[in-house]
Amino acid sequence: MSLPPFKRILLKLSGEVLMGNQQFGIDTDFVAALAAEVKAAKDSGLEICLVIGGGNIFRGMAGAAKGMDRAQADYMGMLATVMNALAMQSALEQLGVPTRVQSAIEMDKVCEPVIRRRAERHLEKGRIVIFAAGVGAPYFTTDSGAALRAAEMRCDALLKGTSVDGVYDADPKKDPTAKRYDTVDYDTVLADNLQVMDASAVALCRDNRIPIVVFSIREQGNLALVLGGKGTQTIVQKEA
Ligand code: UDP
Repeated sequence: MSLPPFKRILLKLSGEVLMGNQQFGIDTDFVAALAAEVKAAKDSGLEICLVIGGGNIFRGMAGAAKGMDRAQADYMGMLATVMNALAMQSALEQLGVPTRVQSAIEMDKVCEPVIRRRAERHLEKGRIVIFAAGVGAPYFTTDSGAALRAAEMRCDALLKGTSVDGVYDADPKKDPTAKRYDTVDYDTVLADNLQVMDASAVALCRDNRIPIVVFSIREQGNLALVLGGKGTQTIVQKEA
């Protein structure tokens, strides 16, 4: 099943894709390559909102597992997403793409606060808006941040670029017989606890009828293929 052409998308990139082949942090060459793909998508006429995770630097759950206060650790995770957003902004601007970063945690020396109407204006002017710090609250993830921004910015779809090429019925790294879905509906994802995004993000997309397209951003050129309907992906939407 395919989707109608998009005008405006929310592209969510997991933090881990920014580390390229490193074990941690930001691989600037890899970020530059990602930025080139995002630029190509924008040059094809799309309006793009970006959300970037922070898992390449810090995840709240990992801190909590080592005894940190969970909320405190989550705030550190949110700060990590701001660093990633600034790295992506820099890479995009080196390619001549105008961008603005809007953070859910106000940080006026480095970026704007999240203001929906201002973000609209940026998109109208051909800028990419990078939303940082998720929803700005602990106990959430950047997937929830992506779903929230996709809803409030009225995006046609949420594209989740990650290191796997879609949604499987089991973990493909552990089970060689795991099958990838071409399409699957929101309720199956929630009922079967399929590893797409956290449940609150999936429910928000379901309630606002925002299709979720899960694909691998690790292979170069894949974003363009997915946008052109020729990629390997899973579409999560109302009826499979
Ligand atoms: N985080 C949070 N609230 C949010 C978004 C993120 O507390 O609204 C924290 C949380 O600790 C999370 C970390 O930031 O683990 C990094 O984000 P995420 O795990 O979503 O990054 P990704 O897995 O996409 O790289």
